[in-house]
This record gives sequence, structure tokens and C-alpha cells, in this order.
Amino acid sequence: MPLSNTSHEENRSILTDELRLIPQWSIGLAIFSFVAVQYIFWVVMPAHTHHPGAPRGLHAFFAISWGEYAVLNALAIGYVSKDALRRGMSRPFWMLVCLLAPGGVGAVLYFLMRQPIISTCPACATPVHSDYHFCPQCNFHLSASCGICYRGARLTDLYCVHCGHDLAQDNTPERLRVFHG
Ligand SMILES: [Zn+2]
Ligand SMILES: [Zn+2]
Repeated sequence: MPLSNTSHEENRSILTDELRLIPQWSIGLAIFSFVAVQYIFWVVMPAHTHHPGAPRGLHAFFAISWGEYAVLNALAIGYVSKDALRRGMSRPFWMLVCLLAPGGVGAVLYFLMRQPIISTCPACATPVHSDYHFCPQCNFHLSASCGICYRGARLTDLYCVHCGHDLAQDNTPERLRVFHG
């Protein structure tokens, strides 16, 4: 099935692109925070508690949980710092939100509020959002869409999934027509 192979590869490249948005400093910060939390749990805390603390198993559970919590926050701040840039959103503001609402709460807020990715029109370099089908300045066909209902279509679709229109009848640019066969 060549079609499913294509979409599988597309999915994988989307995931790789997303992972590339986590900057190296934030991976470094994540490793450092995890080690720092382990240091606090296994070196600092035993030296300061004189009464027998929690059972060792529970202590290890808390050490790893808090370590993962720190890693999650470091990666969330790193991801937001890069992703906000390509969406024209305020970078310092959203990094601060992730810092003040840790544990993924700030990151969830960010994902609820985030704007479409901004790129430029290949024909006239006008800034365009990723959900635009046509350039607002030069009418360049930015992404495949149905000629009747103008909702998005995948390059491999023969018929519109929303209205059933035969996409081969549309006046699509050559680069899109290739995929309609
Ligand atoms: Zn344009
Ligand atoms: Zn349609």
C-alpha cells in the first residue's frame, strides 16, 4: 500500500520536526535538573533527617517522580521557546507561563492558545498562516483544497472528504495536479 507508506513517513517526519524544536540547552537543563533532584534526595535529605524517614522504596519513588517533574518542566520551556517564535507569539511571556505554572499546566495553556505556524508565500514572500489555502496578496495556491467548499484536501485525495466533489475537475496548479493522477 504505497498510500499508507507515504502518510506513515509524513507522520514520522512531523514527529522528528517537533522533536527538533526542543533546543539543546533545554535537554541539558533537563538532565541537570534530574541529577540535581537525585542529589537532593539521596545526599542532602538523608544528612538532614535524623528520624527514620519514609521506607526506601517510597523514597526512591518520590526521587524519580520529582526528577521526571523537573525534566518535564525543562523540556516544556525549551519547546515553547522555539515553537512560539515560528508562530509569532510572545516568547518571554509563554516561557514565563511555563515557569509559573509548572508540571505541564503552562504547556497545556500554551497548546490551547497557540496560533498557526507563520511562513512566507513562495511567490511573493507575504507572511501566511499554515491554515491558509491561498496567499492573501497574490492568490498563490498554498495548499490543496476543494474547488467547491474550499476546505482542505490531502494531495492524495481524489474526492473531497467534506462534500464529495471530484477534485480532478478543479483548476489546480501543476504541482498539485500531479498527485491527482
Ligand atoms: Zn503571495
Ligand atoms: Zn469540498
